Amino acid sequence: MFEISHHNRENRQRLKGASVAVLGAARSGIALAELLASAGARVLLSEQKSRAATPFSGDEIALPGVSVEFGGHSERVLESDLICISPGIPLAVPALVRARERGIPILGELEVSSWFCPAPVIAITGSNGKTTTTQLTGEIFKQRFERVLVGGNIGSPLAAEIRRLPDPQAVILEVSSFQLETIANFRPRVAVIMNLSPNHLDRYPDYESYVQAKLQILRSMEEEDLLIYCADDEFLSRRIAASRPQKIPFSISRELQAGAFWRKDAIEIRWQRLNLHIPVQRTLLRGPHNRYNMAAAALLGTLHGIPANAIRGVLENFPGVEHRLEAVRTIEGVQFVNDSKATTVASLGYALQSFREPIILIAGGKDKGGDFSEINELLKKHARAVIVIGEASRRMAEAWERVVPVYQAASLEEAVSRSRALARPGEVVLLSPACSSFDMFRDYEERGRRFKELVKKMNVLEGGFMVL
Ligand code: ADP
Repeated sequence: MFEISHHNRENRQRLKGASVAVLGAARSGIALAELLASAGARVLLSEQKSRAATPFSGDEIALPGVSVEFGGHSERVLESDLICISPGIPLAVPALVRARERGIPILGELEVSSWFCPAPVIAITGSNGKTTTTQLTGEIFKQRFERVLVGGNIGSPLAAEIRRLPDPQAVILEVSSFQLETIANFRPRVAVIMNLSPNHLDRYPDYESYVQAKLQILRSMEEEDLLIYCADDEFLSRRIAASRPQKIPFSISRELQAGAFWRKDAIEIRWQRLNLHIPVQRTLLRGPHNRYNMAAAALLGTLHGIPANAIRGVLENFPGVEHRLEAVRTIEGVQFVNDSKATTVASLGYALQSFREPIILIAGGKDKGGDFSEINELLKKHARAVIVIGEASRRMAEAWERVVPVYQAASLEEAVSRSRALARPGEVVLLSPACSSFDMFRDYEERGRRFKELVKKMNVLEGGFMVL
């Protein structure tokens, strides 16, 4: 049986000659199998689906030191010293239940890949803002370091990134609650928790279980490690208060004796002997939520010796992340903005607060059962009209029609052409659905791309005539 050490080097040495089953032969499983084999493990890559049902051809899977089985997890899995699982494989699958009965350790891709990280890990988690903060931090670190590994829950799997960039000077990981469910001794030297709010309640039995999963990030952290967290989130502040690492807060609403906070259009950083002022005169990152993301990223950069000027340059020029308040096009004075990633009511609330211009909102999709009336005050203040689509449209209309005119549309196409007809110069058409996309699209990315296509192919009036 594999004994998990607190030392990465020991873990890597113990892999030599060990038999390891990797469950799930998709991108991350294949990358992990390769990484394990490179450390001398005898790897079995085991896939539930038949070979014909997986998108991978023989070549990716023909790896030295790796044998492969399709169409179910066989007894061989239960003969391994260690089982590693790709994200997305539920811990309740029968093979894993039996493995637990036998006492075989089960670890996720994040834990095992982190054994191969030669640089200390910075891990960013929370309910919202992970991707934006991780990418922003990556850009800030690239101002000082040549080899920065940015990965985890974004881009390609960590196992693949480590093979591509084996000697990074900095490792910045976005970490999801699902990944944290299968860690053992994963120890970031710096962790960031952006916020905690109800999310993924379809996957967890209750909110507390979700919070517990997120707080797993602290599990192996010690007194000399750092925890950066949002001081404006009172629930989060209470939950981390008794944890081991040194804590550095950030805030957008008040001055802090120690930590990072905004004063007018500048980020102030006070920590031990550091006392920095980073003016941010202009930025493409709109909205109060992005002020949190910028504060966290600037603090991380400062703690790692990146000069204020370099941080400022990144904050002023970072174009934002696709599908998050992404400016698509301005037509006749109307800005079209794609915020397809906003899948919760809270995210829509932030989006509404991000514009001074009146908004024509397109919202709706699969109804996750949120309370849409939570944002009625914001709608009243910022939206001139709302166009609702998809399964949630009736409940949205019921919640909102008292505060704003609401129109129903049968499809995104119809919603976009309706918005064009309604919008006046100086206004914003905002797709910020407050719902997931699964009733009409494969995922939020497909929904956002479709919106952008529709906007990009819109005809422009020339001399008063539509150009066809
Ligand atoms: P994540 O990776 O955690 O999903 P993203 O950076 O992709 O976060 O942002 C997703 C959405 O969450 C954004 O479109 C925005 O609506 C909202 N958001 C981003 N940052 C924050 C934040 N710091 N606090 C609250 N909401 C945020």
